[in-house]
Amino acid sequence: DTQSTPEALAALPLRENLRGLSPYGAPQLEVPVTLNTNENTHPVPDEVVEAIAASVAEAAVTLNRYPDREFTELRKRLSEYLGHGLSETQLWAANGSNEILQQLLQAFGGPGRTVMGFPPTYSMYPLLAAGTDTGYLAGVRGENFSLSAASAARQVAEHRPNVVLLCSPNNPTGTALGLDVVEAVYEAAEAHQGMVVVDEAYAEFALAGTESALSLLTGRPRLVVTRTMSKAFALAGARLGYLAAAPEVTDALRLVRLPYHLSAVAQATANAALQHYDVLLETVEDIKRQRDRIVEGLRALGLDPAVSDSNFVFFGGLGDAHAVWQGLLDRGVLVRDVGIAHHLRVTAGTEAETTAFLDALREVMTGA
Ligand code: PMP
Repeated sequence: DTQSTPEALAALPLRENLRGLSPYGAPQLEVPVTLNTNENTHPVPDEVVEAIAASVAEAAVTLNRYPDREFTELRKRLSEYLGHGLSETQLWAANGSNEILQQLLQAFGGPGRTVMGFPPTYSMYPLLAAGTDTGYLAGVRGENFSLSAASAARQVAEHRPNVVLLCSPNNPTGTALGLDVVEAVYEAAEAHQGMVVVDEAYAEFALAGTESALSLLTGRPRLVVTRTMSKAFALAGARLGYLAAAPEVTDALRLVRLPYHLSAVAQATANAALQHYDVLLETVEDIKRQRDRIVEGLRALGLDPAVSDSNFVFFGGLGDAHAVWQGLLDRGVLVRDVGIAHHLRVTAGTEAETTAFLDALREVMTGA
């Protein structure tokens, strides 16, 4: 047996703030219908696969050399994709938005500093805090996991965190924040020069009328908006996340990034994908339709889905949520038990996967 034991781990001189923590561990199980990690369940379209393969083949010829440390072409393409008058000096990329968030905490958090999140929110925030030795402050939400501008601003003013993480649309609840919340939090953080990060990993799936915090960047030098190609772009496997902020923020991140952190293969993949973003984003409309089908289907079963601006739906009204999770798994459908009583989270799949989920849930609920 080559597995380590808890005792062997405890005997290592691990940093105190990592002791007893569990690693990020969404199950990676082989099941017919995988709807547990909010990926885009549509395969990459053939046309984009070919473009990526050609771009990577070209990059392969010069893999003996380090890649462009400044990923210049990629930053230009990302700024063009985002619009909002952003220049390439305001863009920064890394291996997934997880690495982007880690770099932000390395630069603006650290020992003796704090980061504030508003649980339930993305489960990596406390782990990224621990990994960078940044104190994690758990803010409080209101009824139905809502977060008002007044409440968020009051909590930020009271605790004066060095970094605030606002997840919008929020994982696991799926709902986006109004820009009034971002504005109020920024104003409260400004009093002590705190950074405000809006994690918009799911922005492309937002409902009509939901606005991006990108529109607030002008005149707010400590505001950061993070995005990813893992969701709408269907490129989770490529590991490409990015942010938009004032140029001095990207300068700060150069101090903590590893040299050549973004491989030539990742850059070639992302550059090719961005040349076809219209084709890639075609899946977004279908996913939104499936998401809305899930919301309706859950309501028809008497359950209580949250408003979703994302590619997943968080729903309550279950008795024993874990038993339902297991019942779905027994029927070949993997969803996420986020550890909140009576609730589960499901990613919108393809039409067939979504139907399989709704059918399986109906069976589990009616004991069929
Ligand atoms: N932010 C949020 C809110 C997420 O849900 C995720 C992925 N589940 C990420 C960031 C990280 O995604 P990635 O590193 O693939 O960009």
